[in-house]
Order: sequence, then structure tokens, then C-alpha cells
Amino acid sequence: MNMINTAYRKDYMVGTYLDPFNEFKEKEVFFEIRHDEITGVTCRILPARYRISIKPDIKSYLEKSTESNCPFCPNLFEKMTPQFTSDITKEGKFQRGNAFLFPNAFPHDRFNCVAIFSDKHFIGLNELTTETMLDGFLVCRDYFKRMKEVYPAVRFCSINWNYMPPAGGGLIHPHVQTVIGENPTRFIATISTKAQSYQEATGSNLWRDLIAYEKEKDERFIASTGNIEWMASFAPQGMAGEIWFVCNGKKSIFNLNDEDVNELLTGFSRLFRYFDEKNFISFNMALFATLVEDDNLWVQGKLMPRFVILPLGTSDVNYFEKLHNEIICPFIPEEMCKELKSLF
Ligand SMILES: [Zn+2]
Repeated sequence: MNMINTAYRKDYMVGTYLDPFNEFKEKEVFFEIRHDEITGVTCRILPARYRISIKPDIKSYLEKSTESNCPFCPNLFEKMTPQFTSDITKEGKFQRGNAFLFPNAFPHDRFNCVAIFSDKHFIGLNELTTETMLDGFLVCRDYFKRMKEVYPAVRFCSINWNYMPPAGGGLIHPHVQTVIGENPTRFIATISTKAQSYQEATGSNLWRDLIAYEKEKDERFIASTGNIEWMASFAPQGMAGEIWFVCNGKKSIFNLNDEDVNELLTGFSRLFRYFDEKNFISFNMALFATLVEDDNLWVQGKLMPRFVILPLGTSDVNYFEKLHNEIICPFIPEEMCKELKSLF
């Protein structure tokens, strides 16, 4: 437990100025710089609670990205989407119900795919129910299983989501992306290496101890829904905070059965309703896992709302994130946790 305590560090800072809104009297502004040694993230938590007062209009996105020019809508789907070579599947694509998985036409990894949930072009945040998403996630697991048979050396996998343009989504049509490989991405490598050194130093599992720590501390622990633990990240990687989920004791993606996936997506749908209520229209999600049982990486992931700052449409990513590799976050994780507790 003590080792976990030292993994989370806070520096308390204060900025001083003469306040033009209070007769130029001296004003102090307090903030925290948080360091998470496990993820390697440094984040500055500002005390002023930021709220998005108006929900951005999604109409302009829908007007620019119509069903008739969408490669994932029935009109163009067969003509425009890539297929697998027959050694992977003779069907060309993986299918589960209305969900399809196929190679990404613009791959950024050797094995990089796209999965769509259905032929529905736009699904609002409050309509992303468990049922809506289930086949789309199960078809990813089907694909991982097949790829492990064809390429036994692959070890790491992820399911990733840019929902809507503020989060990097290039198409309105809801879709997730999978990446698998022999080597982890930098973030997966960071956290699994930390878990390995923790195991060597303490003989204990980092994820089990972290969950126990957060539960006991009860500041960021949102809920346990059965096999999945939901927490607000101590040091978020996004300006609007971050939710962290861990699948308890699940050492590979294949440890997740249908009920676990169902539980995961039910949690997601609660988060999406919360984002919607808070006037967000966009988020990123990444689920990290292994394709072979590995106690150093329990299946886990992150979800973060994304937004543009009105009226200019200013990005929520700036020089601090891009060039200093630190995050400025005017959303307090512990406050977000309190709000989410009531929804779980
Ligand atoms: Zn579409």
C-alpha cells in the first residue's frame, strides 16, 4: 500500500496577481501539479470548476458528413471498405449481427482494423446503449481470436474510439479501431513494466493493490459493477478529466466472457449519458489488453470527454499537452467521481 501512496504525488502551487476584478487587490490562485508514477502522467489540476454551458450544435457535423457520402453506410459499404485476405477470413470481413470488422484503409499499424456497430449513420451519446455496442465489441474479440491463431506471436491488443470530430473522429458513423501487435504501444509498455517491477519488489499485483487503495481512500473510486472497477484517474490525460476502468483479475482479452463485455458496455453507456448531461458531444476511449495471459496487464482502459471551447472552437489540446507532455485540467477528478457515483 505504501508503494502505491508514493506513486501518486501532489505539489501544491500558488500563483499571485493583482486582481482587476477586485480593485487590483492581491489575489492568490491555488492549483496542484499531480504526478502519477504508474502512468507517467503529469497533470495540473486547476481549482476553478469549468463547465460547458451550451451543448455544441452537432447539426453542422451531420450536414458535412451525410449518409450518401459515408463509406460505412449501406450505399457504399461493399464498394468502399477493404476486405481481409482469405488466409484470415474467406468471408472478407468479420461479422456479428449487424456489426462488421474490416481492415483500416489508412493503417497506422501492421494489423489495424475498423469495426462498425451497425448500418446506422449517427448514434447520439444518449443512444449508445449496451445493446447498440455489444456486437461491435464482440466482433473485435472474434477477430483477435482468429489473429492469434494465424499469427501466434502477437501479444498486445487494443480497442480504440474517437467519437465525433472534437475527439479526432474523421467519420460520424460510429466505429472503433483495433490495433494488435507483438510489441506494446508506449503507454501499454509503461504501465505493464511498472506492474512488473512492482511485482518484483513486493510480490504483489499492482492492479489488485491499486484497486484496494482507491477503494479504501474513497476519493476517486466510482463503483464496482461486478468484475469491473470504475475510478476517476488521479492524473487525467485529458483536459476534461478521465475515467479509468479495470477488469478485475482478467489477464487477457479472452478472459472477458459475454457477460463481462456486457458489464463493460453498460458502464460505458452510463458514462456516455453523464457526458451528454454535461454538454459534451465527443470522447476518446482506449481499452488495453493482452492476447496471452499476463498478470502485469489486467484488461483495462480509459475514457475521456473531449470538447472544443466556444465561441472560437478552441482546441482542448494546447502547447502544454503537445510540447511539454503535461496536461492542464480544470475538472477536479474527485468532483467528477462524486457526480458519477450517483449514476452507477
Ligand atoms: Zn454512415
